[in-house]
Amino acid sequence: MPRWGMVIHTGAGAFTLESFKDRQAEMRSAMTDALTAGHAILAAGGTSLDAVQAAVVVLEDSPQFNAGRGAVFTHEGTNELDAAIMDGRTLAAGAVAAVTRVKNPIRLARLVMERSPHVLMVGDGAEAFAKEQGGIELVPESYFHTDLRWQQLQRALEQERAKQGAMVQPRSDGREDTYFGTVGAVALDQQGNLAAATSTGGLTNKRFGRVGDSPIVGAGTYANNRSCAVSATGTGEYFIRFTVAHDICARVEYRGTSAQQAADEVIQDVLTRAGGPGGVVGLDRLGTVVMSFNTTGMGRGYVGQDGQPVIMFTAEDAVPLPAR
Ligand code: ASP
Repeated sequence: MPRWGMVIHTGAGAFTLESFKDRQAEMRSAMTDALTAGHAILAAGGTSLDAVQAAVVVLEDSPQFNAGRGAVFTHEGTNELDAAIMDGRTLAAGAVAAVTRVKNPIRLARLVMERSPHVLMVGDGAEAFAKEQGGIELVPESYFHTDLRWQQLQRALEQERAKQGAMVQPRSDGREDTYFGTVGAVALDQQGNLAAATSTGGLTNKRFGRVGDSPIVGAGTYANNRSCAVSATGTGEYFIRFTVAHDICARVEYRGTSAQQAADEVIQDVLTRAGGPGGVVGLDRLGTVVMSFNTTGMGRGYVGQDGQPVIMFTAEDAVPLPAR
């Protein structure tokens, strides 16, 4: 019997429990709310699509994560948000990139999926679509201004000045605390349908309209009832080039590899050798939970049929997940 449930992540990075101890309680509470929101939908017989969307909306509304309200800043001091959602039953998908005024990009991604013939809309066009469709809350750009993110940008700009203008991407050097907090959710519902959703502000100090893996189907987000559903976090350029989420599910579908082993092969082996930091969460079609990351930490959580949320951040605070 498949076991329904939901797994979330709140970003991978180089961090220790100590390095964000002042923010941990608030993060845990938002993650618990996200898991509870998803669980309520699944327990009532709702769809995995509704569950992942509800969970991601909770995380987008929290200033603690790099998605929605707490999005990181671009080089120019603006916020450009990306999100995607995918239905494992039909392989329908919707995504938005570089939106600047959409409070919950994941809601707009869902509309792209359901009310347009397209998969990915960007920038002004995506926002025009939001206005035309209605029901999508637009906010002033100042809504996304948080002090924490602003200071992170200032540090990146200082490093850049010290390197005479060479582009600095804080995540890539792995030495400083780089816990930003892209968010994602994957669910399996009582009908046996998988769904995945991911939302992010991207990378601090990104420029020139850079878009990462989160809104790219098969890279940062993928769901297919025949294999698994995956949401990723990490340096998006690697996840795009290695089509990480799809590669994991393809290994499951074509080779019969377990989803955890497939995720470990791609994250611990392929990506690590390539120098790409990050991780994934996922579920296979039986509801087996998958988590894999090659960074010191990845915020992550799980809720199963019993409704008990489990939340972890680093390798040290890992607790065993329900075995199959
Ligand atoms: N994957 C995201 C991106 O590259 C960032 C992250 O997960 O932290 O846009």
